[in-house]
Amino acid sequence: MKSKKNTIIIGSGILGASHALTLSPTRNVYVFDFVNGPGQNMGTGASSACIRRHYSHPELAILATYGFNFIEGLSKSFPNINLFSKTGCLSVAEKDNKYQSIYRRTFNEINILFKEYSSSEMRSNFIELNVNNYEVGIYDENAGYADPQSLTNLLINLARSKGAQVKYNIKIAKILFNGSKVSGVQTDGDDIIPSDEVIIAGSYLTESLLSNSGINLELPSTSKRSIFTIYAPLETGKYRGPIFADFSNEIYCKPESEGILVGSLASEDEDHKLRSDEHNFTVKEDRLVSLLDRIQMRFKSPIITKDRVKIVKGIYDVNDFDWIPIQDQCGPEGLYLSFATSGHGFKLAFAMSELLLSQMDQSKNPKGLGNIDPAIFNLNHKRINAVGVLA
Ligand SMILES: Cc1cc2nc3c(=O)[nH]c(=O)nc-3n(C[C@H](O)[C@H](O)[C@H](O)COP(=O)(O)OP(=O)(O)OC[C@H]3O[C@@H](n4cnc5c(N)ncnc54)[C@H](O)[C@@H]3O)c2cc1C
Repeated sequence: MKSKKNTIIIGSGILGASHALTLSPTRNVYVFDFVNGPGQNMGTGASSACIRRHYSHPELAILATYGFNFIEGLSKSFPNINLFSKTGCLSVAEKDNKYQSIYRRTFNEINILFKEYSSSEMRSNFIELNVNNYEVGIYDENAGYADPQSLTNLLINLARSKGAQVKYNIKIAKILFNGSKVSGVQTDGDDIIPSDEVIIAGSYLTESLLSNSGINLELPSTSKRSIFTIYAPLETGKYRGPIFADFSNEIYCKPESEGILVGSLASEDEDHKLRSDEHNFTVKEDRLVSLLDRIQMRFKSPIITKDRVKIVKGIYDVNDFDWIPIQDQCGPEGLYLSFATSGHGFKLAFAMSELLLSQMDQSKNPKGLGNIDPAIFNLNHKRINAVGVLA
């Protein structure tokens, strides 16, 4: 009988955790992260974790649908863990905003049922929102948001139950090779851990890890804008509507008691451009005020004020191929990259794991994903270009 391969996953964010669960039945999986618990850092630590099929190319919407079903199934199997709230999602944008046409095309092409609300319907259905200047809203009932930490934690525990070993407080300093094959990794404490396969799911630290390992690959993963996650109790405590996404103003709101609102600043905001060695930073006073104003504009009554903001985290998000992750075999045999999920990590992670497994096993049909090509997110991004249109 063929022995199982040893596979190292670097990173225990949502991608690393999901890959660990998917790969554990067929491999001896080892996960390493330099933080001290799952989903605490970087993208996953700050995420809004909304699972929406909006603003996606049709193929990505299929992957997001897979994610939605996966998470919904998990939350039914684990009713005592706060994993997922199915709230639906209302998305609005001005008429000429690119998202409006993309939503429709996506939904129509893959037959997702969605409801279009006229301006007056929105006014009567979503009374707390101020959406007067939008002619139409698109509502998808199969949307919601995950609790990023409990979901990642559960995936890690499930992976462990299938044999994965997960180690925290260990930083991987470089990938090791033997000729044209991966041979393992070296920690920053100089320990050498042999393996047959290595998956880097280290998000924006991926490029530096590659270059420390002698692979100089220019990845399109530079931050172009910063995303602010604002944690504050909603002032009214009453907003119980769907996830509300306003793409013309780049804000969205999740209806929960602890109210998390996210506003993203425009790309020209050089002041807040994140460096790769910097995970958090303080938002300047005037920026915070303008962010809060932007959010408040969409609500009829005051929902958030400066003194109630509990945490503000600024973090990288967008890469040059915004919307389109990178997942591919890279350089020496046995080395895979899986990152750059931009604002889509949660909804795409589970399907990405199935695609990765297919790619690693060189099988053509990823489970539950029909004929989607496992190499859809290859390094050249030849199949899908940056605005999500088939090349
Ligand atoms: C503000 C914000 C809102 C978002 N909202 C949504 C949303 O609504 N819906 C959605 O689907 N997605 C959303 N996203 C995107 C999603 O959160 C991310 O794409 C996803 O969390 C990225 O997960 P990841 O596992 O790739 O990386 P990360 O979560 O960044 O994890 C990478 C891990 O790798 C570890 N690591 C890196 N290098 C090393 C090393 N050398 N050795 C050991 N460990 C290492 C890090 O410590 C970290 O834990 C949002 C992101 C942000 C920032």
